[in-house]
Amino acid sequence: MVSTIKNDDLLMGRMMFQPLMISSIIEHAKNHHGSTEIVSQRTEGDLHRYTYRDCELRSRKMAQALNRLQLKTSDRIATLAWNGYRHLELYYGISGNGMVCHTINPRLFEDQITYIIHHADDQVIFFDITFLPLVEKLYPHCSHVKHWICMVDKNKMPESSVLPIVCYEDLIDKEDGNFEWPIFDENAASALCYTSGTTGNPKGALYSHRSTILHTYASALPDSLNISAMDTVMPVVPMFHVNAWGTPYSCMMAGAKIVFPGAKLDGASLYKLMESEQVSMSAGVPTIWAGLLQYVMGNHLKFSSFKRTVIGGSACPPAMMETFANLGVKVIHAWGMTELSPLGTLASLKVNDLKKNQADQKLILQKQGRSLFGIDMKIIGDTGQTLTNDGKAFGNLMVKGSWVISDYFYSDQSPLIDGWFPTGDVATIDAEGCMQITDRTKDVIKSGGEWISSIEIENVASGHPDILICACISTPHPKWDERPILVVVKKPEVTKKNEEIKADLLTFLTGKIAKWWMPDDVLFIEEMPLTATGKLLKVKLREMLKDYSLKS
Ligand code: ADP
Repeated sequence: MVSTIKNDDLLMGRMMFQPLMISSIIEHAKNHHGSTEIVSQRTEGDLHRYTYRDCELRSRKMAQALNRLQLKTSDRIATLAWNGYRHLELYYGISGNGMVCHTINPRLFEDQITYIIHHADDQVIFFDITFLPLVEKLYPHCSHVKHWICMVDKNKMPESSVLPIVCYEDLIDKEDGNFEWPIFDENAASALCYTSGTTGNPKGALYSHRSTILHTYASALPDSLNISAMDTVMPVVPMFHVNAWGTPYSCMMAGAKIVFPGAKLDGASLYKLMESEQVSMSAGVPTIWAGLLQYVMGNHLKFSSFKRTVIGGSACPPAMMETFANLGVKVIHAWGMTELSPLGTLASLKVNDLKKNQADQKLILQKQGRSLFGIDMKIIGDTGQTLTNDGKAFGNLMVKGSWVISDYFYSDQSPLIDGWFPTGDVATIDAEGCMQITDRTKDVIKSGGEWISSIEIENVASGHPDILICACISTPHPKWDERPILVVVKKPEVTKKNEEIKADLLTFLTGKIAKWWMPDDVLFIEEMPLTATGKLLKVKLREMLKDYSLKS
């Protein structure tokens, strides 16, 4: 039981109280990094370039425009947009004005998007022109939405026979920028992000100004993203998914140059932009990096400025880390979730680790890492007992902290258990506080009463040269209850027979994983089902294989 002390018994500090406001980030950026550039690959086709000073002015104009449209404090204003400068202006123009920036993931199913637009009660939808066909489908189902605003130049405005559209630039042009960022309670909602809803409807995580600023401070620290004014950062992780891991805030707080890739996320486009803008740092999920690496390796290219990248969202395969290391890029493996704004842990070495050999150091860096200051974590067993942090015991990962949700938006049922948020992940934590995810709770494989880590098997198997992507799932077994099987998509250029790859893969796994973890079968499919955020969709995979049974 934690003890508390009453205020009457305390000598209070004599320091100013300033509410933590998102607008203070962009004001700071304007005042101290005014000439730093923001470069965006636009849907118009060209590269757009302006400064933090320009961005701050246009964000203030956007805030004015929202007031002119008679939108109210706390109204939810939604975006359906790629990473770009207009999206950044909305981040600040909406939140800085006391409204809530609701970033919608356009990769969700249409009925899920309709559901969240209604659930959030969005008043306005800002959208990139790419999403016009989607918007035309949504419009008939969203009569409560007051304005549909296209984020495009005036001379590129589309015609629609379905809905009236306003041009973003017309809105901004009507304003003079004579607007001061308001001050209000730091606990007010700033942004809203829905989980992907792989099971059931998406759920809303409603961030506050306070939680966002604290997350921003912590995420820019040296053993976190380590962003500085010397960096050129390309956030590849979408601004529509957990605020691009907070980079629109952390880059501006630190004064880094920002490069937005827009809709062009293929390997060739990313590489070209990284080289032309001399990107030093980036962040994204493994599936995006797989495309970039394939392009770079396939064309025998090198990076001239790219030095480090944060990889998370799903486990980063060790083979990917190795490939990046050979290209001179340091991978920082991170774990987080929508409900955590999203950063929870990042892997990095400590002074004591320098005594270890390289192989052991690599093992540490392959884990999901230590908590950021501000996040506490523990693992618990099936009956709720706290398990030992010995790096061996697997348990349900629980977290708490200043940027962890307390409730989902418009839900009266708290997800917390004794003040802790159950992440739905199964993990180990070692005595040094280093956490390793072994599975999602719903994906664990229990064989003969013992847990098998599907992630570890996938990590090793994806290092096989013929494998493009693989997933390890359980299948029923009469004696052991469940056994692991591996489902594989081979690389398109591989011409070997499946039986040959299977035998080769099992030999490849031998000695790299425990004997009793060895998959009982290897199945080949054409395309891996993925979630809206590029993660293995194991629910779908299990459904696809519901008629499969192990040959006895
Ligand atoms: P959703 O897919 O529901 O939107 P998030 O994007 O919030 O969810 O994903 C959170 C989940 O992604 C985590 O609970 C965890 O299972 C998985 N995840 C995130 N980062 C990693 C990582 N580095 N290694 C393994 N799993 C990860």
